[in-house]
Amino acid sequence: MDSAAIASDLTETLVTEQQIHDRIAELCRQIETDYEGKPILLVGVLRGAVMVMADLARELRKVDVEMDWMAVSSYGAGTQSSGVVRILKDLDSDLTGRNVLIVEDIVDSGLTLSWLRENLESRGPASVEICALLRKPEAAKVEIDAKYVGFEIPNAFVVGYGLDYAEKYRNLRDVAVLAPHVYA
Ligand code: IMP
Repeated sequence: MDSAAIASDLTETLVTEQQIHDRIAELCRQIETDYEGKPILLVGVLRGAVMVMADLARELRKVDVEMDWMAVSSYGAGTQSSGVVRILKDLDSDLTGRNVLIVEDIVDSGLTLSWLRENLESRGPASVEICALLRKPEAAKVEIDAKYVGFEIPNAFVVGYGLDYAEKYRNLRDVAVLAPHVYA
């Protein structure tokens, strides 16, 4: 889906498809250096991280990766984080001794990721790091040490590149601010 096709639902494009592509390549070069010789278990958080997971995994050219997925509850159909995290689908992999890289679409309040990191760290991995395409610094309620962050964005509700509003707009190619009239 192109931004132009749903222009009246959006107020502003924050990150273009090309910018995402270029930034993921940069992050991958950094990840390849940091994990040289160490296989990575990418843990994608469903469903928002599907696009970033697919692009990140393919762009990692020099390091072995496995992919696994978790689903946790987040916003439902609203636009505010509740802070209540529930596992809807757990990992299939045993994390013992693994180098885990959590792949997320966005760090908003940070509540989901801080809970998730603690949960995964309790399963005996060698390491747990976080890669998030987007971060809203103004919204942080808890300090999240995300080692790999694509873009800092303002505190607005965004959609696209996996991010939804009530399950819509995930297939938008850019990341754009959703017009308030859509959810008002
Ligand atoms: P957090 O717990 O507030 O950091 O965010 C939890 C989840 O809420 C994220 O993984 C996203 O799936 C979702 N989320 C946060 N901000 C946005 C947004 O601007 N648009 C769409 N989804 C969002």
